[in-house]
Amino acid sequence: MSDNPNTPGRGTLAVHAGVEPDPTTGAIMTPVYLTSTYVQDGVGNHKGFEYSRTHNPTRSALQDAFAALEHGKHGFSFASGLAAMDTVLKTLKPGDEVISTNDLYGGSYRLFTTVFAHYGITFHFVDLSDLDAVQAALNEHTRLVWIETPTNPMMQITDIAAVANLVKGSEARVVVDNTFASPMLQNPLDLGADMVMHSVTKYLGGHSDVVMGCLVTSDDEWAEQIGTLQNSCGAVSGPMDCFLVLRGLKTLHLRMQRHCENGEAVARHLAKHPAISKVHWPGFEDHPGHDVAARQMHGFGGMVAFTLADDNLDTAKAVVASTKLFTLAESLGGVESLIGHPATMTHASIPKEVREKTGVTDGLIRLSVGVEDAADLLADLDQALAAATAGRG
Ligand SMILES: *Cc1c(COP(=O)(O)O)cnc(C)c1O
Repeated sequence: MSDNPNTPGRGTLAVHAGVEPDPTTGAIMTPVYLTSTYVQDGVGNHKGFEYSRTHNPTRSALQDAFAALEHGKHGFSFASGLAAMDTVLKTLKPGDEVISTNDLYGGSYRLFTTVFAHYGITFHFVDLSDLDAVQAALNEHTRLVWIETPTNPMMQITDIAAVANLVKGSEARVVVDNTFASPMLQNPLDLGADMVMHSVTKYLGGHSDVVMGCLVTSDDEWAEQIGTLQNSCGAVSGPMDCFLVLRGLKTLHLRMQRHCENGEAVARHLAKHPAISKVHWPGFEDHPGHDVAARQMHGFGGMVAFTLADDNLDTAKAVVASTKLFTLAESLGGVESLIGHPATMTHASIPKEVREKTGVTDGLIRLSVGVEDAADLLADLDQALAAATAGRG
């Protein structure tokens, strides 16, 4: 359903966004233009395509789809989510400052602190759900507020509109990493953000077969800079990958609907389990970000984390080794259910004291709940928890 009478509903956009029948053959699916260059009739006389780092028709269709899905004007596709982030950070200069969340995706934290910190950019990590903390970190050098909501893996929620409102009038722009929600559940540009970033690798691709990232903005000046960097630095996505994602997008609304249903079933089931002390899922009314999530999202998504009652590393390792349908792997957002142990996997690059402060303890387990039958998923978790806690008391 659409909130804006001028834009089609999300499901309609998912099926049609960016895709026009091929003008030369009428092919209903955008062809995979596996070409690096394009013939010119005379010097400078071409059909809008010169070289595939700069433009490729398959990538153009996908970029238009990204823009439409996020209700923005300009879409950009990159070789990975981190390549997309890297491009945004390259629009900053030495002396600039960035405010971000203290429960950030591990790879984003690494990019900020081990790469861009060396180029004279200062990063402040605060609790973005605390507007006073954001205000305290804001100064005349702040150029970016980097939001991730819901966060990975603690499912913390940031009020996008409130942060956008807070920095309004300053030179800071607001970027939202919308990977966990997907454009089906949250549209940050509608809430006042200046740019949206996705790890397309996750829900947008949806089938665990592509690594890709994207950016969407309606800010013409910033888009111009991003486009120049995309071409100058060259971290573009290839046409075959673009085709796979165009195909994946057509079922995004259906997949997200099932991810939400299954995520809720798993969260409610685990909340009653004696081996678990806490389930982290924004759909629970006692979740600290519940009201904001209910307001700014169209569903609570398929990501669920839980803390074991004994908060013990060995028990956690036994649980992730015992599931049969939930496969032990990094990543998320594919049709198949995955299980992970953030402290030793996705968040291993974050120092123990830092990660434990936000709740990423040894007994935390993260689930990417897929689109299988919910009853089978619940049964699998039950047997794994029973196997892991047998004889441990
Ligand atoms: C995976 C992920 C990224 C990084 O994207 P890649 O495609 O792996 O480079 C960034 N943010 C979030 C929230 C992620 O889950």
